[in-house]
Amino acid sequence: MAETLYLVIPCYNEEEMLPITAKALMKKMDELMDAGKISHRSKVMFVDDGSKDKTWEIIEKLHGLQQSDIFTGIKLSRNKGHQNALLAGLMTARNYADIIISMDADLQDDINAIDGMLEKRAEGCEIVYGVRSSRDTDTAFKRSTARGYYKMLEFMGVEITYDHADYRLMSKRAVDALAEFKEVNLFLRGMVPMVGYKSDIVTYERNERVAGESKYPLKKMLAFAVEGITSLSVKPIRFITALGVFIFLISIVMLIYFLIAKAVGDTVRGWASTVVSVWAIGGLQMLAIGVIGEYIGKIYLETKARPKFIVDINLEER
Ligand code: UDP
Ligand code: MG
Repeated sequence: MAETLYLVIPCYNEEEMLPITAKALMKKMDELMDAGKISHRSKVMFVDDGSKDKTWEIIEKLHGLQQSDIFTGIKLSRNKGHQNALLAGLMTARNYADIIISMDADLQDDINAIDGMLEKRAEGCEIVYGVRSSRDTDTAFKRSTARGYYKMLEFMGVEITYDHADYRLMSKRAVDALAEFKEVNLFLRGMVPMVGYKSDIVTYERNERVAGESKYPLKKMLAFAVEGITSLSVKPIRFITALGVFIFLISIVMLIYFLIAKAVGDTVRGWASTVVSVWAIGGLQMLAIGVIGEYIGKIYLETKARPKFIVDINLEER
């Protein structure tokens, strides 16, 4: 029997976009249902992230539509940001769905990639990542910063799928596992790979936003980028420790140099000891901060209370 699919779509001030999105999705969902690829209980769930415009009114109207009952929605009590809205949608939809696909409201993610995702699902995947095949629609600036950013995340030891935003299919099972991650600082695209399970990717062309404007101004984007690093990696702390060790080593090299210079009689009185102690103390202090940071990093990871493991297959239950 075909599985029930829920599309989860966070919306913040999307009144211009919603009618267009709804129309396109209704067509798509009808096609998928008629082809028997998804069950007739499948729905599109909009998450109103505390919009200040008519977004919620539109969602309610879509829900009450005569010709179709595929639209549903939830409304958050206030604006909590894209990631929180998305999580709210996933956690609600998992009560009704077998599979959930998350996507943006602006149709930038090609909805025809859903077919590919469902195919991978049929092959037994629990998670299918939508990956953009090109960044032609981006400015050169966004392209290069995005590339650099992914490289940096990788360097920080964060496992992340390159050029994947939050357009992905997750089975109920995978979303249930994600629910075990208790952290409040969300960077979902970095957390989902931690769930594991059989997963794959589907590539798609990313389009331009059709109507309305980006809800991610540079400021929010930067904050999100920092979030990605600080909520997934404690490596920055380790850099401080390394820097401390490095500076302390310099002080030792300097000490040797000054001792030789002094022996040769090439120094001003008191200078050598002053300069060496500046480097030595500086290095030691930084090292100490790094060590303290190392424990704070541990506390940080403990407070996240992430699951220590997720069982994929238990032969006792098969
Ligand atoms: N969004 C949200 N809450 C916010 C900001 C954005 O739910 O506080 C939604 C928005 O409605 C859209 C998605 O997140 O569906 C992605 O936002 P947008 O398309 O503006 O980002 P961009 O594609 O420009 O990075
Ligand atoms: Mg967008």
